Amino acid sequence: MPLDAQTGTAGQARTTIRGTAVVAGLAYGPARWVRRADPTETGAAASDGSGPGSPASGDAAAPAPNTGQAPEQPPTSDPGQAPDSTPEQVDQSRQRFVDAAATVGERLDRRAALATGVSAEVLTANAVLARDRGWAKAVVKELKKGLGVEAATVAATETFVAMFTKIGGRQAERITDLRDICARVVAELQGLPEPGIPEFDEPGVLLADDLAPADTAGLDPDMVLAIVCEHGGPTSHTAIIARQLGIPCIVAAAGLGDVADGERVLVDGAAGTVEVGPDERVATEAAAADREMRLKAAGWTGPSVLADGHPVDLLANVQDGDGAAAAAAGPAGGIGLFRTELAFLDRPTEPTVDEQAELYAQVLSAFPDAKVVTRTLDAGSDKPLAFAGMTQEENPALGVRGIRVDRIDRGLVDRQLDALAEAGGRVGGAQSSPWVMAPMVAIVDEARDFSRRCRERGLTPGIMVEVPSVAVAVDRFLPHVDFLSIGTNDLTQYVMAADRMSSELAALTDPWQPAVLRLIRAVAQAGSATPDGRVVPVGVCGEAAADPHLAMVLLGLGVSSLSAASAAIPFVGAALSEVTLERCRELAALALDADTAAEARAAVIAAVRG
Ligand code: PEP
Ligand code: MG
Repeated sequence: MPLDAQTGTAGQARTTIRGTAVVAGLAYGPARWVRRADPTETGAAASDGSGPGSPASGDAAAPAPNTGQAPEQPPTSDPGQAPDSTPEQVDQSRQRFVDAAATVGERLDRRAALATGVSAEVLTANAVLARDRGWAKAVVKELKKGLGVEAATVAATETFVAMFTKIGGRQAERITDLRDICARVVAELQGLPEPGIPEFDEPGVLLADDLAPADTAGLDPDMVLAIVCEHGGPTSHTAIIARQLGIPCIVAAAGLGDVADGERVLVDGAAGTVEVGPDERVATEAAAADREMRLKAAGWTGPSVLADGHPVDLLANVQDGDGAAAAAAGPAGGIGLFRTELAFLDRPTEPTVDEQAELYAQVLSAFPDAKVVTRTLDAGSDKPLAFAGMTQEENPALGVRGIRVDRIDRGLVDRQLDALAEAGGRVGGAQSSPWVMAPMVAIVDEARDFSRRCRERGLTPGIMVEVPSVAVAVDRFLPHVDFLSIGTNDLTQYVMAADRMSSELAALTDPWQPAVLRLIRAVAQAGSATPDGRVVPVGVCGEAAADPHLAMVLLGLGVSSLSAASAAIPFVGAALSEVTLERCRELAALALDADTAAEARAAVIAAVRG
């Protein structure tokens, strides 16, 4: 996307960067970059305390924090320091480590003081970990072997990682934290900016190359005013999390790298623009007015009915018990997608059936009398799960993901289903036969097999429609399931043969694509008139349901429920309350009649605005 240089009204140079609009809303504040620990910055010079930005020592890279990826292994020797370190050198290095760890600990304490709830607890625990004496002792041990201070820090950390992995359970869950703290301390030793999500002293706009799901998990929506990524598509997980948090978001913003940390930017999540250095007063007023407007929509409390009184099943997408509880506190009528894999992203080992049952029961009990749809693990592709046993693939989006994990280990899904049945029994009532669906089903055999395993356990089986083969031959799948849920993120990716993570192809992975809308219509119609006379409910749980105008179109196409991030529900609900079902059908016809996604969107928006 082009970089426009314009002249600002206040006389200073102003730049507008364009990207793909993901979550609407204006935000104005200082840019804060997510730093990555870069292995290439740490490989050469002597461990001499070189200044910021210079290659600091002969140490191997600290593991990249928060990426959920396997870290670099620590080096076994350090070219930057002789193997026979003198006691003075060891003592100096020990002091450097202690000082760096103390600085990191203080920063974490400050962030903890600004946070609340679980985030505050986690940050405080990490601050304690940074000052852990056992860690310092382990570093000294490595220093005595002749390692430089950074290599010793990484090596000592990896000793604990190995130990915690062996112990498993809760200890093993601390591994990500340990490596994160290690990366921060190493960066401090090197005089480099802290890696990972930066510390926010004041509310600001988070800029990143792209965000891993684990990066976004702990974001504080009170401090992060907007998210802008140079890469990613509108259905990437950055976009999903931004919607969940209700934060304005833009992806595929080419040229973002030119924005310096601390520069003030105005983000327009509806237009997909980032203005760098705008007029302060104008930007502040615009952001404040927009916030007010968003507050108004957020004041919509349901019930979810169209203007003609037609009820709409407006459900929430969640990833854990807290998300479910938050959804229940708002106007959501239930849960249309519980992404179980996101609850386990940071787990090195598979949670036990009992642990899973506990989590599932929490989610089910958030809506004791309403629909809650749990999805079995959709591991693989952009959501790697350490314990799922998946190997590196050339083409992971077309590889072993979703229900295809059965090909590696059927026990993973079986144990999930056992846990869900157990949770349903515990919660009882309307949840005694929980709804559960399999992701990435492609052939009838998979649907038949999944349904059998669910029914054996008293569960209500469904499948996601996200592989085009299911949409095309939906009549062959319907006899086996009790419901369908269309995953428009992947359905669009596969129909358009365009990677949902690709910023270059963001215009193709747009759920307004008329070809995608036609498939949705076909699936919705098939569900309402099955060969055996049953009505099989068809919902949409992809990001399409979070777009108020597209939500109208989806209802017009015959979809019976919509599931979106909790933060999007008031916007969707408020918009739907203004239109009748008949109007939705007219809007759907307009969209289907378009040749391109942009035309479809423009035609519908123009018609709605009158
Ligand atoms: C989808 O593909 O639309 C979907 C809801 O699944 P996910 O985004 O988790 O792949
Ligand atoms: Mg999907």
